[in-house]
Amino acid sequence: MIKTDILIIGAGPTGLFTVFEAGLLKLKCHLIDALPQPGGQCSEIYPKKPIYDIPGFPEILAGDLTKNLLEQGKQFEPGFTLGERAETIEKQEDGSFIVTTNKGTKHQAPVVVIAGGLGSFEPRKPGLDNLEIYEDNGLEYFIKDPEVYRDKRVVISGGGDSALDWSIFLADVASEVTLIHRRNEFRGALDSVEKVSELKAAGKINLITPAEVTELHGDGKIEALTVNKEGEDFRLETDYFIPLFGLSPKLGPIADWGLEIEKNAIKVDNSLNYQTNIPGIFAIGDVNTYPEKLKLILCGFHEATLMCQAAYRIINPGKRYVLKYTTVSGIDGFDGSRKEAPKAVVQSI
Ligand SMILES: Cc1cc2nc3c(=O)[nH]c(=O)nc-3n(C[C@H](O)[C@H](O)[C@H](O)COP(=O)(O)OP(=O)(O)OC[C@H]3O[C@@H](n4cnc5c(N)ncnc54)[C@H](O)[C@@H]3O)c2cc1C
Repeated sequence: MIKTDILIIGAGPTGLFTVFEAGLLKLKCHLIDALPQPGGQCSEIYPKKPIYDIPGFPEILAGDLTKNLLEQGKQFEPGFTLGERAETIEKQEDGSFIVTTNKGTKHQAPVVVIAGGLGSFEPRKPGLDNLEIYEDNGLEYFIKDPEVYRDKRVVISGGGDSALDWSIFLADVASEVTLIHRRNEFRGALDSVEKVSELKAAGKINLITPAEVTELHGDGKIEALTVNKEGEDFRLETDYFIPLFGLSPKLGPIADWGLEIEKNAIKVDNSLNYQTNIPGIFAIGDVNTYPEKLKLILCGFHEATLMCQAAYRIINPGKRYVLKYTTVSGIDGFDGSRKEAPKAVVQSI
């Protein structure tokens, strides 16, 4: 049994920042994630994309944000159960919860925080035969490391931002990039659409619209596709086929925990502290909903900060916490480290 103060389900940016905010309040965290690595959407979907709206960072790659969040929380020694999905929750007589994963690992904590984002990642797959033969053998639903495609032939399918952005990015990496979309119009950002047109004119992207991939070919590995363009079939040789049709958000087992759910998200009280309808269980980040909710990283950070204050009161009933600036109080890590500004600087504040 893994015991901790705050059990966080989901090691995306919101869950990772919770470790730091909880640490300031001397609360220890343990995180469970179904993915084998922390970072949530940032590391699974777009690690090499720059984010422009993290306060204080004019530009930061999603993968670097994850690294920084891990570094910021490291001193508070979080525990991780990775590659396991939280399946069940049981309330104990002492008010604590036991959360068990699909692999049977048990975790106990007085406070459970669901930071499950979109839920377990389920890419929308094309309706083609034999997908399972080719998955991870030339058929990919996410791009994790663009270097895999260096000097290879790549076919991307889709009409949204991911399909456009990755086609643009891979135009300088792959030996051949083909973008196939079933309509002539794209749903993505206008400047990305314009960039794709420029790269097409420069001969760096092969754009095929309106068209659809209808068959996959290859001996245990993708070697070619059948493409149907306006009723005509033709064969396209390629090393990789990457359909980027988005993720279908699935809350998964959490949906059966007795929480109030609205449009696939967990309802919380945003006027207070992001508690769900079950006292002791909170939901923060993309997974929750309330009036005017925005699914942005910085909103998840704010929600984590307020939630930790409520968790402190549950874990330390009757004890008062006085908010202190880190510039003044410094930081005492659970690993014995101490960070503080030089005394003269503190005294001058
Ligand atoms: C292409 C793209 C670009 C984006 N650009 C920006 C941007 O520029 N700025 C911005 O602010 N936001 C952006 N976002 C949105 C941003 O990534 C999300 O708001 C953010 O990731 C939410 O963080 P989170 O920690 O709440 O959830 P997530 O990042 O979704 O992480 C949730 C984690 O919970 C895990 N999980 C779920 N259910 C379980 C379970 N039952 N058991 C175990 N683990 C579970 C998942 O595996 C996942 O790792 C972008 C998103 C995408 C897809």
